[in-house]
Amino acid sequence: MINFNFHQHSLFSDGKAEPEEYIKQALELGFEAMGFSEHSPLPFKTPFSLKIENIENYVETLDALKEKYRDQLSVYRSLELDFVPGFSEDFEKWKRLCKVDYAIGGVHLVKPNDTEELWFTDGSDRNIYDQGVETFFGNDIKKAVKTYYHQLNGMVESQHFDVVAHVDKITMHNQNRFFTEEEKWYRDLVSETLHLIKEKELIIEVNTRGLYKKRSNKLFPDGKTLQQVIESDIPVILSSDAHQPGEINLYFDYAIKRLHHFGCKRLLFFNGSGWEERGLE
Ligand SMILES: [Zn+2]
Ligand SMILES: [Zn+2]
Repeated sequence: MINFNFHQHSLFSDGKAEPEEYIKQALELGFEAMGFSEHSPLPFKTPFSLKIENIENYVETLDALKEKYRDQLSVYRSLELDFVPGFSEDFEKWKRLCKVDYAIGGVHLVKPNDTEELWFTDGSDRNIYDQGVETFFGNDIKKAVKTYYHQLNGMVESQHFDVVAHVDKITMHNQNRFFTEEEKWYRDLVSETLHLIKEKELIIEVNTRGLYKKRSNKLFPDGKTLQQVIESDIPVILSSDAHQPGEINLYFDYAIKRLHHFGCKRLLFFNGSGWEERGLE
């Protein structure tokens, strides 16, 4: 049984409960470790980011919880850092201010080349995705997806962090409508990104959120991309990206089956000072 999850959001960003509620749930499930990864602040208003004025409170609240539950499970403080070229600040700033134990990097807002507006590719609304493909990329899906992966590559090359969040989440609202993941141009983009991730010795997370939110019929990543991750020997973690206590281990059993299917033998586990390997039974 996988009894740890290092990617989850509380009320400090866009989660729905206080951090302690997640810890109580984790104890009920026999967890040995968990980490909070609130969305990092951005220089504009968003409904999902940690607010700068709450950083101190985030640090203090988590320090108190780490201490309170020290004998029962390990609690870690992290961030899911948003990389938006020209907008987001260097990851180091937020990592330092929030005194993170480890860092997750991800792309949710894509910056098209010729506008200051941003394309929101995440969230529940498929129309926002479709409108972005039309407005920012003239319905050229290849250009849109390429911009996403190139932004991700920019993050991998310019920022310091541990884990790449939901590497192929750009496929979530596609649902095979604009393209399939088998197409050569798409595979080439993924290969380029995975190559960079491998080179920088980063970790890839296998994220179950799309499945339990019914926004997707697959993991991020899954299929050929997950196969390629495993075959390239890129280390993986499993996370649910929980936004509520009841979500902290959803679809973990399914994900384990998929990981086995692709020949994955190990998951990474954060032990307080670094990442160690745990065998997949
Ligand atoms: Zn995310
Ligand atoms: Zn997240």
